[in-house]
Amino acid sequence: MPDFAKSYRLLRRSGEAPLRSLAAYRETGGYLALEKALRQQTPEQLIQQVTDAQLRGRGGAGRLAGEKWRIVRQSPDDQKYVICNAYDADSRSYAARTLLAQNPHQVIEGIVLAAYAVGASEAYLVTRSFFNEGIEAVQAALKEASEANLVGRDILGTEFSCNITVLALDMGFMGGEETVQIAVIKGRRGMPEQRPPFPAQYGLWDKPTAINSLETLANVPVIVRDGAAAFKSVGTATTGGTKLVTVYDLVPDSAPVVVEVPFGTPLREILAFAGVNRAPDQMRAVVVGGAEGGALPPPLLDTPYDFDPVEDAGAIIGSSILELLPAGTCMVSWAMERSRYLSKETCGKCVPCRLGVKRITGILEGIISDLGVNGDLEVLDEFAAYVPNGSICGFGVQATNPLKTAKRYWPEHFIMHIQEQQCPTGACVPVRSHRFVTK
Ligand code: SF4
Repeated sequence: MPDFAKSYRLLRRSGEAPLRSLAAYRETGGYLALEKALRQQTPEQLIQQVTDAQLRGRGGAGRLAGEKWRIVRQSPDDQKYVICNAYDADSRSYAARTLLAQNPHQVIEGIVLAAYAVGASEAYLVTRSFFNEGIEAVQAALKEASEANLVGRDILGTEFSCNITVLALDMGFMGGEETVQIAVIKGRRGMPEQRPPFPAQYGLWDKPTAINSLETLANVPVIVRDGAAAFKSVGTATTGGTKLVTVYDLVPDSAPVVVEVPFGTPLREILAFAGVNRAPDQMRAVVVGGAEGGALPPPLLDTPYDFDPVEDAGAIIGSSILELLPAGTCMVSWAMERSRYLSKETCGKCVPCRLGVKRITGILEGIISDLGVNGDLEVLDEFAAYVPNGSICGFGVQATNPLKTAKRYWPEHFIMHIQEQQCPTGACVPVRSHRFVTK
């Protein structure tokens, strides 16, 4: 079991009551960090402390939060904004909804600290409309915090003010994209925008905007309270702190388990911590990163869960989902299913993402329908590079991970399907609609 101080946990463990009320949160030292920052630290000192703590964005990209804040802070513009991304683009991730429901005040304290650091007086919390329990919890917490003068005007008697507005929407995968959230707050159609300029320079209402995930922000009070060195003592040399991970077992339709582990914990230990103990011969792979994640074979279960080692293996932290694939899985079929799902979630703005993912799906459908030809593998490689290179948002950049890892670790599945017209597991069924796909 990953062992680290209780005071560093964002989530309660089983048997521990959620920290929903202000009184319960205060008992754990809640809002002491806000008081300390407002009375003893300049915004620049707070940004430096968060940078020193190596707090990397938990939303997937892993950029240093302090560096993003510094860009916003240093802008000469008077008006700045903070957006807390509590959306969970991949709806199979339970991280955001669980954190909101269990520890809403820590998210609020993190938002107010971020606003103080960058110089914003308005912040938005964007979440999914079906996270009912989380929305109720955060709205109740905001009411309590407002009554206690912890958000709103002249916080804690200082000259710093910050209002937080909660916005709940459901736009599928795209609702988690930062530029989509900016567009929706402005009342416009939610479509990703080309970057640069990044939101830190040119965000909401064209003003500098710090967008961080709720998990990133919830770590800020811990850093301010205990200092950067103490925070970095949990995690790895490059990524401080913990990560919330949603784990799915082999059992079809199994309920997910959300665990909190220090960065760097081996995948095998995360699974065991979640109560998933499967022998290597029971599983084909562990998929790391959700719908756009990569499949890693059992010998890679010792991979440390951190941005660089996971990406080196071909997967992503992404939506922080780990799920097992049964031993009888054909990886051509798995990559086809994933590509088909992703081809329906794309917003369609960029040609490589809109058509490339569909084309990959079509080629894979052909292969499992015994219509594959030798040149298919080269064409798949071309698309695996073309889609990420020509896409303007993270969705397209990551959309070919399932294909790439299936080809990288199970090339024999592709070769058997193409050269022998046989499925390595005997499970594949020809796709009847394939005749409509142009080869
Ligand atoms: Fe839309 Fe895909 Fe382009 Fe992102 S990469 S903007 S999802 S078409």
